[in-house]
Amino acid sequence: MSGPAMLFRCPHCQTKARPRLRTYEGATLHSFTYQCENIACGHVFHVRAEAVRTVRPSARPNPAVVLPLSKAANDRYSAPAQEGA
Ligand SMILES: [Zn+2]
Repeated sequence: MSGPAMLFRCPHCQTKARPRLRTYEGATLHSFTYQCENIACGHVFHVRAEAVRTVRPSARPNPAVVLPLSKAANDRYSAPAQEGA
């Protein structure tokens, strides 16, 4: 794999693990196969990364993607109630 990847540590020995394979499971969910860099351990495991909330809305929204706004985004981007309406 190339490009930046999430730092993940081996759940058994806490050594840094290296991402080996990325799988797209959908618009909001990717999975990664990580391999522990400790050769005495050698653990290989799957990690899932999921988009769960919107912090700033997209300027090119995909109608198939529905992510709730974070509380801060909700305060910033939701229309304020109109007084007297
Ligand atoms: Zn390990």
